Amino acid sequence: MPRIIQDFMKRMSNHSVSITPQFVYRSWLVVLIPTCITLTAYGVAEFGPKEEIAISTRTEAIATPILPSNFPDSPIWHEDVIRAGDTLSAVLNRLNVDDAQANLFIRSDPIAKSLFELHPSRSLRAKTDRQGKLLELHYLNNKNQELSIKRQNTGFIASISEATTQQHTVVKSGTITSSFYASTDRLDIPDSITTQLIEIFSGQIDFHRGLKVGDRFSLVYESFTHDGIEIKTGKILAAEFSDQYKTLQAMWYTPPGSKEGAYYTPDGKSLKQSFLKNPVEFSRVSSGFQMRFHPVLKSWKQHKGIDFAASTGTKIMSTADGVISKITQDNSGYGKHIEINHAGKYSTLYAHMSAFSPGLKPGSKVKQGEVIGLVGATGRVTGPHLHYEFKINGQQVNPVALQLPTAQPIESRYLAHFQPIAAQTINQLAFLQRIEQARAE
Ligand SMILES: [Zn+2]
Repeated sequence: MPRIIQDFMKRMSNHSVSITPQFVYRSWLVVLIPTCITLTAYGVAEFGPKEEIAISTRTEAIATPILPSNFPDSPIWHEDVIRAGDTLSAVLNRLNVDDAQANLFIRSDPIAKSLFELHPSRSLRAKTDRQGKLLELHYLNNKNQELSIKRQNTGFIASISEATTQQHTVVKSGTITSSFYASTDRLDIPDSITTQLIEIFSGQIDFHRGLKVGDRFSLVYESFTHDGIEIKTGKILAAEFSDQYKTLQAMWYTPPGSKEGAYYTPDGKSLKQSFLKNPVEFSRVSSGFQMRFHPVLKSWKQHKGIDFAASTGTKIMSTADGVISKITQDNSGYGKHIEINHAGKYSTLYAHMSAFSPGLKPGSKVKQGEVIGLVGATGRVTGPHLHYEFKINGQQVNPVALQLPTAQPIESRYLAHFQPIAAQTINQLAFLQRIEQARAE
């Protein structure tokens, strides 16, 4: 017996009415059937008395609007987003392209053929005539190049060019609720920006142990889009971290007439590190969802270097500008390793690499942050990691314990130019913090 009837019977019995199951079942059907009909009818007819509507036809002469003479032939732009599992012919169909000649060209032309590598969520734009003849087709491939196909008098021509981009400024602010990386993920902050943020504040914040739940951060960064799709990010323009005791701020500033900018505090102190604290690039692919460049602590006396746990293939960066003095694989136990001389008495060594960046040789100049090779497990090791040494006059020292020289503050002749920009940046960051505080409370 259906549950509903059992319940009904129970309720009935509570009311001390004796009733047979047979009877209940029949009355339930009777109640149910008209209800269904009413529900169906509800959508199409209004309640109330039926009205008779008379329909008659009347013909009236109206002036035909004058269309521009080229209207019937003017081309049409169509745009459609590629879906997972899409085929090119399905997309072209949705774009209203009905053109055998174009199909043949796309199949045979070496450049146009790459159109078959469809990437879901990227869009395709086509210009056709009213009959579906293809006039133009544009597609942004996953290398952020624009593939264009254009109809010419003699046939089609395909070309690939760097996509034109529009620059935007993106602002984000968040509160740390579990880990810093969980917060940046939640805000959809790209890895390249997270890495920059860590680098900018690495001299002031210990990103492994120094952040707490409730700490807030804001940032302003450059984004480049093509047809509304973000295809790359640029640099951080301003950023801030704050806890209940202090606020740390950084802003990008390029002095007038200078080609290179740098990060400064709003009162003009340089945030540039003479040496990066971390020579291993944060990479989600190689490190999963956790940051894995935590230095492995060992007794300094036996070890004389810092080991950074990272998977094979993680990028290794030079920690300062310099010149390569050694790039080799010898029997020293270091495996594939690079040594770089920096201005003056400093040098750094990177060991157990799986590969060197192409083109590097003794005498090559490298910039701070430049990728010099990849993490590996060559030499005397038990697993992949980067062994990093910091030397002063050829002697290994512990860079963590070292007070390294800091870069110069803003030159006084630029202060008049710098100060209004700094004031504006502080206002912008304060505004973002107020929004975030309101959201968090
Ligand atoms: Zn080591």
